[in-house]
Amino acid sequence: MTATAPDAATRQSVTVLGSTGSVGVSTLDVIARHPDRFTLFALTANTNVRLLAAQCLALQPVYAVMRDERAAAALRAELSAAGCATEVLAGADALCTVAQCPEVQVVMAAIVGGAGLLPTLAAVRAGKKVLLANKEALVMAGGLFMVAAREDNAVLLPIDSEHNAIFQCLPGDYAIGTHPPGIRKILLTGSGGPFRQWSAEAIAQATPEQACNHPNWSMGRKISVDSATLMNKGLEYIEARWLFELQPGDIKVVIHPQSIIHSMVEYVDGSILAQLGRPDMRGAIAHALAWPERMDSGVAMLDLITTQTLDFEEPDCVRFPALPLAIEVAFQSMGAATVLNGANEVVVDAFLNRRITFPAISESLMAVMETADYREPHSIEAVLELDYYARELAEACIQRRASR
Ligand code: NAD
Ligand code: MG
Repeated sequence: MTATAPDAATRQSVTVLGSTGSVGVSTLDVIARHPDRFTLFALTANTNVRLLAAQCLALQPVYAVMRDERAAAALRAELSAAGCATEVLAGADALCTVAQCPEVQVVMAAIVGGAGLLPTLAAVRAGKKVLLANKEALVMAGGLFMVAAREDNAVLLPIDSEHNAIFQCLPGDYAIGTHPPGIRKILLTGSGGPFRQWSAEAIAQATPEQACNHPNWSMGRKISVDSATLMNKGLEYIEARWLFELQPGDIKVVIHPQSIIHSMVEYVDGSILAQLGRPDMRGAIAHALAWPERMDSGVAMLDLITTQTLDFEEPDCVRFPALPLAIEVAFQSMGAATVLNGANEVVVDAFLNRRITFPAISESLMAVMETADYREPHSIEAVLELDYYARELAEACIQRRASR
């Protein structure tokens, strides 16, 4: 048999938003395993010139975008000195441009936080196949986001391991954004984070290094802190609500310390379907990239004999008050989730910069939710204004605490 060169016309052209992050790097790893299926159109980052330069030299995308203008100039100089043909663009608008270009078929949305909303939405509005890791985009603007996906025929595929698992446990013809037929409950699993077995006293002293030391997953710093407070599970609760068109009472959070089951679906006939695998994001990424087919992800096969036990427990809402707070917000209103998400980004950043203690993350969020006074947003512009307002409230709350 003679080998044939990959046909460029049949390969899918991919933009990776946030290619220098944890999910971005895993995405490039999976894509590199399948040069016959994918080509890279654009890679993007905030400020990490060194890693984006290395990615461009290795993978030769058509475009590289840096959110930061000065970083873009540094990248441009570095690539041109190395004779790399990748064109460098700068700024927030360029992120949207490479997400919606007609040449692109697939967009991996892996920017962290609200900064990912506009580029992710640009991909959705251009009707792309959108692989959604950026959960904050859905949390802050879920209703508007899902309407846009429907109107513009975007193919939304969840990358968050729980939501990807749920999607895998639903019927083959199930469409994201509709209520799944025949289900009784979605069982959203979570590891419980690094402080699952810590006393409240020990948690009160927790450092950013300890919070970022997740027992099972290796992730960016923001999501690692969210996992430690269990806010991550709360954000995922809100994410699930929108992706699977759920009602209050349809979702239950189950702590599963081994992170082997990535989530489950309970059906009305008493069956529970679960998706299992090693805790490695490349599994979900490969699933979504190949969907509806399957392809190699590079993830080693799970050995059930050595795994041996799977444990389950209720979440502790007393030591981890951010979880019940987010659950309460989930079905309250979209605006409430916008406020919670924006405030959370600010307080997590304050904790990472040692301005506040670990318990102050949840305490500040509760204070913000109590004092916030806002109108329900009905446009993306209104969402962004509300997000800004929430960030200011959170910052004021942090400063009040510091002056006490
Ligand atoms: P990360 O911090 O490792 O990477 C974030 C990426 O976003 C980087 O490429 C960074 O350059 C870019 N970025 C940051 N701020 C930006 C800005 N203002 N403008 C443009 N780009 C910006 O984060 P991560 O852990 O890869 O997570 C990315 C997203 O995926 C998050 O929404 C997270 O919740 C979600 N997610 C991550 C994991 C995981 O295992 N890491 C799992 C599930 C979901
Ligand atoms: Mg997750």
